[in-house]
Amino acid sequence: MSIAYIGLGSNLGDRACYIRNAVALLEQGGASVLKMSAVTETDPVGGPPQHKFLNAVVKVATRLSPVELLDHCQAIEQKLGRVRTVANGPRTIDLDILLYDHLAMDTPQLKIPHPRMFERAFVLEPLKEIEPDLLEESLNARRKIR
Ligand code: AMP
Repeated sequence: MSIAYIGLGSNLGDRACYIRNAVALLEQGGASVLKMSAVTETDPVGGPPQHKFLNAVVKVATRLSPVELLDHCQAIEQKLGRVRTVANGPRTIDLDILLYDHLAMDTPQLKIPHPRMFERAFVLEPLKEIEPDLLEESLNARRKIR
């Protein structure tokens, strides 16, 4: 069993409902949610002017490989109606794999730890809330791949 952390964000439609549904779908596809942060409202970072986001982070236990987990996350994004129009534009739901065990990987398809997580308060704060000691560890993993 592996442990992964997934960041969720939504800024279109019924944002709280999209976050709830995404968590339920994660569970149904083989990622058991062990912990979930509070859902908080945050200002958009980058991209065009757009509505505020709701963000949360979940800790999951899974037998899916990292790429299988990415496929699962992308299938959930599609199922919940995410349409990719502009880069960093509004979205019903966005799922990012933040960390997966102690893995450091850098392929065009999948980068772990997620390369932008360390600059994003909307990821770091909920991660600290559910796993206060984890950040130092993941910063070290990031140094290894640089
Ligand atoms: P976004 O539009 O922000 O959801 O980015 C999705 C793209 O980022 C996809 O093409 C993924 O293959 C790629 N990607 C790379 N690393 C990750 C990651 N750790 N989690 C989610 N998507 C990733």
